[in-house]
Amino acid sequence: MLRIGITGGIGSGKTTICKVFEIFGIPVFYADIAAKSVMQNDPLLVSAVKDLFGDEAYFESGELNRSYLAAKVFGDEKELKKLNSIVHPAVFRAFDLWSEQQKNVPYVLKEAALLYESNSYQDCSYTILVKSPLELKLKRVMQRDNVSGEEIRKRMARQWTDEEKEKLADIVLNNNETYFLLPEIIKLHQRFLEESTK
Ligand code: ATP
Repeated sequence: MLRIGITGGIGSGKTTICKVFEIFGIPVFYADIAAKSVMQNDPLLVSAVKDLFGDEAYFESGELNRSYLAAKVFGDEKELKKLNSIVHPAVFRAFDLWSEQQKNVPYVLKEAALLYESNSYQDCSYTILVKSPLELKLKRVMQRDNVSGEEIRKRMARQWTDEEKEKLADIVLNNNETYFLLPEIIKLHQRFLEESTK
């Protein structure tokens, strides 16, 4: 089955675009949601987290101690890298399992903010990069999350730039609100439908 990766910077509109594909009946795997779930439910990951960060990373009830873990990795590049190096493979496993469960669909989408940074793009038949101008992304996220521009810029600094991502992207969608995106999405859907029959 075709696996299409879709990514883009914070507020670029990747989730909004995925919702359109969902309307067409295409299942979407949201990697950021899956990452939260595997932290709780993947036994291999849970034991790796405990090994690396201590048993205190989970409460006795088995629930993840988010504030403990956040304090461990916050502002510490090395520790964050360690955490990512165990979380990303767990998300890959979850995606594989999820993909196998999708029956009678021509293709699936994987939405991931760090599609390229995590190397998970290598597992995709094609990747789509959603691009938007910085000012528009800031405006959208400030409205959506009620956070400051400074906070969003901090989050953005943890991701690759669009220029870096574009080198690896097969398809670029410009979500700059100056032209209609829907016809572009329909064209892509048709292209993937054709590809899926080959
Ligand atoms: P994040 O990585 O932060 O989750 P994202 O790339 O998934 O962001 P969305 O959540 O899809 O971005 O979009 C951010 C906000 O911008 C949302 O409130 C969405 O409704 C709005 N938005 C996205 N694209 C458009 C558009 N073309 N026109 C108007 N609003 C838009």
